Amino acid sequence: MQLLPTFQSSSHTLTRFALSCFDKNPNMTSGSNSLMWFRKGLRIHDNQALEYAAKDCNYVYPVFVIDPHYMKPDPAAFSPGSNLAGLTRIRFLLESLLDLDSSLRKLGSRLLVLHGEPSDVVIRCLKEWDIKRLCFEYDTDPYYQALDAKVKNYASESGIDVFTPVSHTLFNPAEIIEKNGGKPPLSYQSFLKLAGEPNWSISSLSTTLSVIPPIGDLGNCEVSEVPTVEELGYEDIQEVDPPLFKGGESEALRRLQESTNNKEWVAKFEKPKGDPSAFIKPATTMLSPYLKFGCLSSRYFYQRVKEVQKEVKNHTSPPVSLIGQLLWRDFFYTVGFGTPNFDHMRGNTICKQIPWNDDDELLAAWRDARTGFPWIDAIMVQLRKWGWIHHLARHSVACFLTRGDLFVHWEKGRDVFERLLIDSDWAINNGNWLWLSCSSFFYQYNRIYSPISFGKKYDPTGAYIRHFLPVLKDMPKEYIYEPWKAPLSIQTQAKCIIGIDYPKPVICHDDASKECKRKLAAAYELNKKMNGVMSDEDMKKLRRKLVEDQGKGTDSRRLKQKFK
Ligand code: FAD
Repeated sequence: MQLLPTFQSSSHTLTRFALSCFDKNPNMTSGSNSLMWFRKGLRIHDNQALEYAAKDCNYVYPVFVIDPHYMKPDPAAFSPGSNLAGLTRIRFLLESLLDLDSSLRKLGSRLLVLHGEPSDVVIRCLKEWDIKRLCFEYDTDPYYQALDAKVKNYASESGIDVFTPVSHTLFNPAEIIEKNGGKPPLSYQSFLKLAGEPNWSISSLSTTLSVIPPIGDLGNCEVSEVPTVEELGYEDIQEVDPPLFKGGESEALRRLQESTNNKEWVAKFEKPKGDPSAFIKPATTMLSPYLKFGCLSSRYFYQRVKEVQKEVKNHTSPPVSLIGQLLWRDFFYTVGFGTPNFDHMRGNTICKQIPWNDDDELLAAWRDARTGFPWIDAIMVQLRKWGWIHHLARHSVACFLTRGDLFVHWEKGRDVFERLLIDSDWAINNGNWLWLSCSSFFYQYNRIYSPISFGKKYDPTGAYIRHFLPVLKDMPKEYIYEPWKAPLSIQTQAKCIIGIDYPKPVICHDDASKECKRKLAAAYELNKKMNGVMSDEDMKKLRRKLVEDQGKGTDSRRLKQKFK
């Protein structure tokens, strides 16, 4: 078992970047109380923070804090859940906590669940339990950065040692940024060059612990069991029966085993070749929810795939291989960590400034699967029901909402994904929305995913659409991607009248996509002229110019009216 931290502190000091695991004394006090603060990293295997918390200690307090910011029901939200998270993700998290609790019990401990603002709760526990060592996984998300600063401050003033290993990703984003002269690499290839082979890749990662020291006196801290969704104030509405993803490390490891058992499949894995319409047996691993919460270690995943690759003659390579997918994940973590305002257009130096519209009507039609384009609507139904969709399905709907058709701001689409995806991940979600909207990383805005022909290529009979949009189940295959073109007699026969049973398309794709390209061309030109630095006034001017030019082309309002 590997008990020493993999990432040691560096002498180089960067204000924003965490290169250091130890905030205080690396030779920590032994024989005292430690607190293991779980947030992500909901696992026993390859958990450096937990291993260190358990080393040479009298008592270990494994804590998870139910954060109202994340978990409190929000009746005003557009789907069941809290302000930030859909119920499907909340349920997945609670299942993951139950599984963690059960694993901890097998090791002689248990999970202590507390409720409240996490930094306040943790500071209270540190005082109440006389903690000398605090261990938690380093988190690059801005929300945790702020929380952690508060807790670390208190710990340092109180003489508590803090251990925060980087174990959510394959690499330490701060180290990659440092190697690149203080800036994140902005292309996948340059990221690969800087990253090289991870330094832990040849050592065997720990898969279990033999024992965890007991929990000490709980004093006045109010500790509960893992709550149910009902106890959190939700009605337990199951969107899918049975739910597609069961949260937790046990299930994650079972699924990883199942995927890697199929050696040929692993060796030949080649994205983006998979079929986005495959729903009975999806084309990829579907491990993203488990990576998101750290029920599965990305390092362990990486090693298992490497083992398979050693056993086969030929295998695919990054960027398309399975290892390549994990490296995409690290790439977005690194860029997200090193880019101020990564989750916004304004103030984000790597993001093109584009005069997106704020059309809430179009946004709601997209979000609620009412665009009238069956391929797009079926994907949005799958997203809401399953909390997961295939990568190319994500491409289709993100392109459609932004640069392809509706020209709605990518931040609005990002918010919808952030809420509905179980795997919703700050760095990866923002990174991919920047990519798909041609705001960063990818700039070929003339290459648009057709909401009609793209899906048809994979699924000519429309089985996927019929499954997720049963209202179209009897529509002949000639019209399944464009039902508004079906003669009324066929619509009647299919028991689906367009405009009554299923909406007319919200825009005309050919006109809308031409209009989007025109706007993007103008925005790109101005971004180039201004060297990417555009004021509010420049943006206003650009909007004005686009409206003035509108007589020569079409704008989204007119495109919409055509179909009303
Ligand atoms: P596999 O193909 O089996 O890949 C294995 C793992 O590699 C994934 O679980 C994931 O952790 C990582 N990975 C795969 N593709 C990517 C990618 N393009 N970028 C970064 N990491 C990747 N993924 C998320 O995990 N969370 C998100 O919030 C998220 N939002 C997205 C938003 C948009 C607009 C798009 C286009 C993609 C988004 N992705 C997101 C990336 C990708 O679609 C999912 O990671 C993938 O579909 C998950 O399925 P899987 O586990 O079967 O992937």
